[in-house]
Amino acid sequence: MTIWPKPRQSPLNLIISGDIQLVATVSEIDICQRIRDSVLEQQLAPGTKLTEEALCGIFSVSRGVVRKALTVLANDNIVTLVKNKGAVIASPSTSESHEIFEARTIMENALLRRTIKRADCDAIRRLRAHLAREEKALDEKNVPKWIRLSGEFHVVLGREAQNDPMCEFLEQLVFRSSLILALYGDQGAPTSCKGGEHERIVDAIEAGDLTEATAIMAEHMASLEGLLDFARKEKPRDLASILASAPSGAKT
Ligand SMILES: [Zn+2]
Repeated sequence: MTIWPKPRQSPLNLIISGDIQLVATVSEIDICQRIRDSVLEQQLAPGTKLTEEALCGIFSVSRGVVRKALTVLANDNIVTLVKNKGAVIASPSTSESHEIFEARTIMENALLRRTIKRADCDAIRRLRAHLAREEKALDEKNVPKWIRLSGEFHVVLGREAQNDPMCEFLEQLVFRSSLILALYGDQGAPTSCKGGEHERIVDAIEAGDLTEATAIMAEHMASLEGLLDFARKEKPRDLASILASAPSGAKT
């Protein structure tokens, strides 16, 4: 599973903007991408039913394409398939959530150690470019896009470690963290990474300071987990209103 980088203009984006000629090109990959984006932006709540009929209508595709997409998403633990009931966006339990954050913290630190050893000027430039995109989204008050970019930062960082299996596992953990934040975070306010900490991590990487970088990352993950309130759960929102709307921004 390799999710990033994403195409700047996918066939699905074009369909949403009304280009009928490209309708036939919608694939399970496009559907997966749209659903992943909505999960990462915390727009698609855990527990939301993904009926085949609704997805066929929203994306103008056959049931076969929808089923393939749902199978891929189920393999990534983003969707849960329930026999005779269909698919729902996964809803991690309290114990699963703790396990996911524990696994993510271990993976983040393991990747960070590798990244510090390998980060050259180009790597620092790529990381700072991503930080600039996060800041731009925040300046534009595009909260869903900012939340998505905040999660993507961790994958961009992980990539610099140059270990694909580890990075793919981290990607899955970042998605599952988004589900947890959507489910147990404060729904009255954006629940995402704390401002400034990503920049401090990049500063420490540039300085080659492993102790500082891992300390900030540990603090960062703890503050993210600290946002969770396991007594709280969000009600699922209407599927069509989320998936049929235009994406929150180009994948820049
Ligand atoms: Zn973060």
